[in-house]
Amino acid sequence: MTSAERPRVVIVGGGFGGLAAARALARVVVDVTLIDRHNYHLFQPLLYQVATAALAPNTIAAPIRAILRAQDNVTVLMATVTGIDTAKRAVLIGKGHIPFDFLVIATGARHAYFGHDEWEKFAPGIKTLADALSIRQNILSAFEAAEVSDDPSERRRLLNFVLIGAGPTGVELAGAIAELAKASLVHDFRKINPSEARIILLEAGPRILPTFPEKSSAAAQRALERLGVEVRVGKPVTVCDAEGVVAGGERIEARNTLWAAGVAASHAAMWLEAPADRAGRVDVRADLSVPGHPDIFVIGDTCSSKSWDEKPAPGIAPAAKQMGAYVAAVIRARVEGAELPPPFRYRHDGSLATIGRNSAVVDFGKIRLSGWLAWLVWGVAHIYFLIGFRSRIVVALDWLWAYVTFRHSARIILAETADTIMNFPVGATAPAGITRNSPQTELLARSVSREPGHEPV
Ligand SMILES: Cc1cc2nc3c(=O)[nH]c(=O)nc-3n(C[C@H](O)[C@H](O)[C@H](O)COP(=O)(O)OP(=O)(O)OC[C@H]3O[C@@H](n4cnc5c(N)ncnc54)[C@H](O)[C@@H]3O)c2cc1C
Repeated sequence: MTSAERPRVVIVGGGFGGLAAARALARVVVDVTLIDRHNYHLFQPLLYQVATAALAPNTIAAPIRAILRAQDNVTVLMATVTGIDTAKRAVLIGKGHIPFDFLVIATGARHAYFGHDEWEKFAPGIKTLADALSIRQNILSAFEAAEVSDDPSERRRLLNFVLIGAGPTGVELAGAIAELAKASLVHDFRKINPSEARIILLEAGPRILPTFPEKSSAAAQRALERLGVEVRVGKPVTVCDAEGVVAGGERIEARNTLWAAGVAASHAAMWLEAPADRAGRVDVRADLSVPGHPDIFVIGDTCSSKSWDEKPAPGIAPAAKQMGAYVAAVIRARVEGAELPPPFRYRHDGSLATIGRNSAVVDFGKIRLSGWLAWLVWGVAHIYFLIGFRSRIVVALDWLWAYVTFRHSARIILAETADTIMNFPVGATAPAGITRNSPQTELLARSVSREPGHEPV
């Protein structure tokens, strides 16, 4: 078959779903074009460790081009998709367009602030490497600014860390910040005592980790409290500003508030003018195609597929990977004229969440673990699923080092001058003379550039 005759498969998104689809098409006679706005695949489950200085960014991100180097039928393009022309069967990238015979959309999700988009600048969420680096800078800068400050109330505010949302991300972030403050940084300062930092985890619902069994939630809460985290359930946040939050009617002053409460799908439904659920996820058919468009598939966090005993598959990496492999099988069958696979069924292998350096909860259905053994299972699973031999070794060594020494190894603040960060951490009130468009702000923005190649860590 000449290249002009080979079906063209375009995959948008090089995350868990898109990458799984591309890899599963390795031996199929098609030309694959994988488009991503970043040049790297990101292992999001460990983003919180970059945000809390436990891991360097390059240990959890790998260039997509390098991952797919050996797969001759794939071309990788770094570009931002802005729309889909379903009539012309083309993906739009700025002024250009990429034609397709089959399209797989795997563009993931972003933060959702439940109608309070204005909170985003005060309570950033963690979704990209740039988010994690910006949060890392804010957390580390808070300790530095507290050491310099002579104002006790300002110091207290600097050392208060509020996390909104107690799903796995909020729980993992809370445990990691507690460990950073109470173990890793504890001997490094002279005026302040980092272990006096307050880490406050707020949850609107009745318990933390609501998707886990109640016993696991209770075990996770106990583990967090042992680390010194203040867990407050049934406390919806009603105000979020530069000075902190109001939760359950109580004002909590904090320089650092982090958002881990909600996600919304990417713009795929808008691009396709397709039916979607309340989170914006495209309602797909049983074969993950879009109603009325049998050659367009939507997978992963950006689709709603009732494939888990009639419930929607969860927004987690294994679901996205299984969907990626499944649509590749459908495309293969269509290209080869073979029998189509049965409707997609999500297979749930388990749920895991870690709390600090040696505790976790694991729910495999029949087997439920908590504590150190669960942490070991969590660690082995995450190292196994990381892409790249080097990353696995580096992460394992970093964890071993942190385990033995209580030290976080990636504690570099990237801003170019102390003034840039000390006076104006992101989300804080600007001191007199510094505006959001000042040169200082620009420096800060540049220091968390979205180009991974610019990160000197
Ligand atoms: C902090 C955090 C922790 C998590 N922890 C876990 C965990 O412990 N276990 C677990 O299973 N899951 C976890 N998840 C969820 C998991 O990461 C997602 O379910 C999974 O990444 C979804 O895969 P996906 O392929 O749908 O999207 P993603 O992996 O998000 O990939 C989407 C890709 O699309 C690209 N893209 C988006 N828009 C465009 C565009 N317009 N043009 C070009 N490219 C675009 C993005 O750059 C990205 O590479 C976590 C998520 C986060 C944010």
